[in-house]
Formats: sequence, C-alpha cells, structure tokens
Amino acid sequence: MSLLQAIPKIDKFISNKKFEKYPISLITKISKKQIDILRKDILEKKVDEVNEESLILNVIKEYEEITSPSLQAVINATGIIVHTNLGRSLINKESFNRVIEVATSYNNLEYDLQKGKRGERYAHITKTLKELTGCEDAIVVNNNASAVFLILNTFCKNKEVVVSRGELVEIGGSFRVPEVMSQSGAVLKEIGTTNKTHARDYENAVNENTSMLMKVHKSNYSIEGFTSEVDFEEVVSIAKQNNVIDYYDMGSGHIIDLPFNLAQKEPSITQIMKYNPSLLSFSGDKLLGSVQAGIIIGKKELIEKIKKNQLLRMLRVDKITLALLEDNLNSYVKGNIQDIPTLNMLFTSLETLEQRANILKSNIEDICSCEVIKTQTLIGGGTTPNKKIPSIALSLKYQNYKPNKIEQILRKENLIVRIENDTVLLDFRSIQEDEIVKITQIIKKVFS
Ligand SMILES: *Cc1c(COP(=O)(O)O)cnc(C)c1O
Repeated sequence: MSLLQAIPKIDKFISNKKFEKYPISLITKISKKQIDILRKDILEKKVDEVNEESLILNVIKEYEEITSPSLQAVINATGIIVHTNLGRSLINKESFNRVIEVATSYNNLEYDLQKGKRGERYAHITKTLKELTGCEDAIVVNNNASAVFLILNTFCKNKEVVVSRGELVEIGGSFRVPEVMSQSGAVLKEIGTTNKTHARDYENAVNENTSMLMKVHKSNYSIEGFTSEVDFEEVVSIAKQNNVIDYYDMGSGHIIDLPFNLAQKEPSITQIMKYNPSLLSFSGDKLLGSVQAGIIIGKKELIEKIKKNQLLRMLRVDKITLALLEDNLNSYVKGNIQDIPTLNMLFTSLETLEQRANILKSNIEDICSCEVIKTQTLIGGGTTPNKKIPSIALSLKYQNYKPNKIEQILRKENLIVRIENDTVLLDFRSIQEDEIVKITQIIKKVFS
C-alpha cells in the first residue's frame, strides 16, 4: 500500500474516540487541514510513514492553540504601576461586580428615566466630573489620543494651533503630536526652541487665523539644563487676552496630589482647574486608575461644540466603559481612594512593601537565595518622566542560572520580573498582596 493510500479518510478519522469531548465542526476543519499537510509532506517525500496517533495529537494541539485565551492575567513584578504593555491600570473587582448588572441588563445608557425620553450617554459621568473638578461640562471618548484628535478637529481645522517645540512629543506606540495634529486638519504653529519657550513666543504667534494655544505634557522625557517653558497658568491668561482657546493635553491626569514630592512638579487636575482653563484632556487608565478612555473637561460652550462633531460617533465609549469610569470617579467623590488599585499601589508605605517582601522571602528562601532590598521604580504610563519613586524588591538567585534564564522561566508562568544590575528583582510596588501566594506556588513549581 502506498503512503498516500494509508492517509486516513476524514469521516473515519474524526470519529476516533480521542475527539469525543471536542466540538466536531472545529475538529473536522483542523483535521482536513492536518491531512492536507500530511499529503503534501508525503508528495514532497518529507515523511516516510503515516502515523495516525501523531496526526491526532497534531489536531488536538492545534485545537488547544486556537481555543486557549490569548489575553491572560499576568503578575506584574516589574514595579512599574501604570505599565502600558501589561494593561495599565487595574480595575477594582467590586466595581466590576456592579458593572455586571448594568452590562447584562438593559439600562438607561441613552434614556432619561425621569423624563421618560431619550437621554444623553455622557450625562452619566458629567455629574461626578463636575463635582470632582469644578468643570462646567465633560465628555468621554475612546482614549486620550482620540480626545486630542477630536478637540483639534473641532476647533482647529484649517486654523492655527500654537505649540511649543519643546512639547512636540512622540509617545509610546508612535502617537506623535505633530502627526495627530496634521491628521486632524489643524495647522501646527511651532514656537520657541527645543529647550526654551517664552510667554512672548505665544503672544507673537497669535494672528487672525489662530484658534488655540495648546500645551502638551512631556510624558516620557524631560529637558534638563538651560531651559524655560511657560506654565499653563500663563498660557491660559495669554489665550484669554487674545480671545483664543487654551487646551492642555495632560496625558496622565491625576486628581489626588502625588506622593514622594512629585506634587510640585506634576500639578493635579484640581490644581490646574484653578487657572480656569478652556479645555483639559487626560487618560482614563493612567493615574486616574480606571478603564481606557479619554476624558475632556472644560467650558460648556466648547464641550457642546465637541458633542456636535460627527467624529464623536466614531470615538464614543460603550456602557461598560462608562459604568466602570463612573464607579471609579465615585470612589474619588466619596474619598475612597483605597478602592482604586493604581492609587493604592502608589501610596503603599515602604514598611508595608517590606513586610510583604519578607513574607515571600520566608516562603521561598529554602528553594532559592533571595534578599529584600531597597530600590526605585517608575510610576510609568508617562506620568512622571525620569522621576523614580522608592520601592522594595526581593532579589532572586537560583543555582548558577543567568538572570535572563530565570526571567524567561518565570515569564512562561506569567510572572513578569525586572532585571537590574544583572539581578532578577520582584518589585513589590506593583505586586498585589494576594499575589504573594501565587508567586510562591510558581517558584516552588519551577525551581524544585
Ligand atoms: C498617554 C498620552 C496620550 C495618549 O493617551 P491614550 O489614553 O494612551 O490614548 C496623549 N498625550 C499625552 C501627553 C500622553 O501622555
């Protein structure tokens, strides 16, 4: 019998008992593909036998690959709280429980329960945002990049927007301010130099075609040395004098003053609102500690204009985002900061981090050599460029394994660590208290 004749017939093949617990339609599809591969390999003389058992294994393996979830939970032991690659902010579990009811029932997303007629999608968060920030009105879109785009498209199409050369940034994932501007139809008017921009640069740039003075947070870099930039407070006042809009893309907006002497350099939304700005925008999932969203707050008449922009329909957020965001904002209104995981991590004392590190140490020190050390980490998410905050880490060594090897072994178990000075570190700034048990299990599993 030739090899080709030995190839199993599909109907008979899929009736094998080993496929019993799998859905037949997907198994059939994969089986056909695997049989085709086998036939091709035979014709190309790459195989010299037909092994039905290994064919079955290949089918099951491919089935597992297709159906196992790609998006998975990981333990973030890098110390970076707002880690963009690891999903930025964590959502409070109880928030999610409340949101389940809204999302799995019909709800008043665009329905005014009092008046019994069509309501406004954005009304659900304006109440809390007004209360928190003192803004006149607010709107929420897909993310802060959308917010920037929508604002520029609404107010600056074919008009000039004045930005300092020191703020024409590129943010991770290739969000380039100048390119977003040109895509939105705004005409970029660069002022100043890379290291210095003065108030008079803004004043001199304004002409009859100017629509806006924009400031952009320097999220992922800082300019040191011989520098000067114009505070947003002054930008607001120059805009007012010249009857144009002022707008600050804050990047990561935070409501509560930051710890570790960062408050002075990185003013909160509340502080910035004291300048009475026209428009501010910030991310929902950076230091605000909620879902991916772009939040725009400011003057009512301007927000009204944004709401009329047809693009809003493409950038709008769904009920789950709104419900989670409302819950997060409510935690701020009620002063329940401990309910916001991102802030919880940021404000945890070094003593507490050290206690946790010591618990893990005592759990695993008979397996590998480890040491509790003082370290520094970044908040991340472009919140405080080049400014580190204190933290506690557990250094980890195992036999004569290289740090890269340990990192790789732990990564296979979804435990993401940091390597610093040729040492593997588990940084407790971003490790959740209830993850200590899981980390212990992982280390026991891989190193014993
Ligand atoms: C992060 C950031 C953005 C983009 O925000 P996303 O919510 O990620 O879309 C825009 N501008 C600045 C200054 C940022 O830091």
